[in-house]
Amino acid sequence: MPLYEYRCDECQALTTYLWRSGSKTSDVVCKACGAASLTKIISRISVHRNMTSKMASLDPKYDAMVDRAVKNTPNADPDRLLSRMKPFDDRGRSKVPE
Ligand SMILES: [Zn+2]
Repeated sequence: MPLYEYRCDECQALTTYLWRSGSKTSDVVCKACGAASLTKIISRISVHRNMTSKMASLDPKYDAMVDRAVKNTPNADPDRLLSRMKPFDDRGRSKVPE
């Protein structure tokens, strides 16, 4: 569902409207003053969301490619530090200088 941003023609306030199926232009009113006279503007949020959905719709092979690349590059594995961590014990607690 696209997210649109409108600028009120009366008070210039910005109103963000989530456009659902069945939405009508008359549903969009200024949140600040209630005026129905609004101009659609390009929303940064909307652009960001569109980019995000573009990224999400990339070929799923890309994910597998990244996974393979990480596997072949141990230093790039985000879990490498986690796997090196040891559970807390008596020695672990005394590592903090007193
Ligand atoms: Zn307004």
